Amino acid sequence: MEVGRFAPSTTGRAHAGTLLAALLCWLDARSRKAELWLRLEDLDPDRCRPQWSEGIRDDLAWLGVDFDRIVEQHDLAAQHEAALDRLAEAGLLYPCACSRSSLAEGAVRAPDGSLGYPNRCRGRELARGGWRASCEPLRVRLPDSGIFLRDESGLDLSQQPASSFGDPIVRRRDGAIAYHLAVVVDDAASGVTRVVRGRDLAPSTATQVALQRLLGLPTPVYRHHLLLLEERGEKLAKLHGSAGADVLRASLAAEEVCGFLACAAGLRSAAEPTTPHDLLHDFCWEHAGSEDRVVRFEAGRLELVPAASGGGYPRSP
Ligand SMILES: [Zn+2]
Repeated sequence: MEVGRFAPSTTGRAHAGTLLAALLCWLDARSRKAELWLRLEDLDPDRCRPQWSEGIRDDLAWLGVDFDRIVEQHDLAAQHEAALDRLAEAGLLYPCACSRSSLAEGAVRAPDGSLGYPNRCRGRELARGGWRASCEPLRVRLPDSGIFLRDESGLDLSQQPASSFGDPIVRRRDGAIAYHLAVVVDDAASGVTRVVRGRDLAPSTATQVALQRLLGLPTPVYRHHLLLLEERGEKLAKLHGSAGADVLRASLAAEEVCGFLACAAGLRSAAEPTTPHDLLHDFCWEHAGSEDRVVRFEAGRLELVPAASGGGYPRSP
C-alpha cells in the first residue's frame, strides 16, 4: 500500500502556496489509490499555535482536499524520544551550545542559503545523565560520506550533508524536537512511501536521508514541485502571509481558488472554476509545470504575474 502525506507547519493560516502543495499531494495520492495522511507539524513552541492547526484543517477541507488519517506531531513525542535513545546508544549525539553569531565567522553557506554548521563540537560528549539530562541543544553526528539520489522528477539531490549543512540539531535548547528528526521518524512511523513537497525543501533531503540511514529507516520516493512566489520589493520570495486563506475565502469560492491553482500548476490552460475531484481524472505529473509561478492577490482576485520580473527563488543544488 502506498502512503503519502501532507505535512504543513502550523505557523499561520494556509496561504495559496500551502493550498497548492496540498492539492498536488492529494492528486498524487488519490491518482495512485494511496493512503493520504495529514500531519500537522506543531513542535516549534515559538512559532506554532493550536488555532492555526485548526485553521489549516478548515482551509484544506474548504478547498476539497481530504485525508485518511490526521495526526498532530506533538502527540508523537514517544517515537521522537525513542529515536533520540537510539542515536545516543550509537554514540552519535553531542551537545552544542554555540551561538549563531559565534558560528557566523568563517562559516560556509549551505545549499539553501543558510549558514552551514562547521561541526565544531563533534568532540564533545553527552552529560552523564544522557540526552535527557542535557540542557544544551543536541546535534547528531552524520557520516562524512555523500548521499546520492534523484527525486522522481529527476532533480539531483546528491550532497554531502555533513559538510554542506553540517550536523543537524535534533533537540533544541527548549527541549523541542527539531524538524529533520521529527520528519524522518514520523514518515517512517506512518509507513510513508511518497513524499511530495515544494522545491524549497529539496536541499534538506540529503540530511533527512542520512538520518534515515542512521536510524535504519526506509527512504521514501521524493518528488519536489514548483513553488508559488510573490514580489517582495525588488525580489521574489516564497509566498507567505500576503494571501492567507482567510483573506482568499472572503472574496473567492473554493472552486475559483482550485481553478487558479490548477492553472498555476500547469494542469489547466485557464483558471476556470473546478474541484480537486474534477482534476483527478486526467492528473499526471507530466502535465504539471516545473517553473515557479509568481502570484499576486489584488482587489479580491488572484493573478499570475508574467515571468521575467527578476530575482527568482534560490534553486536547489
Ligand atoms: Zn558548538
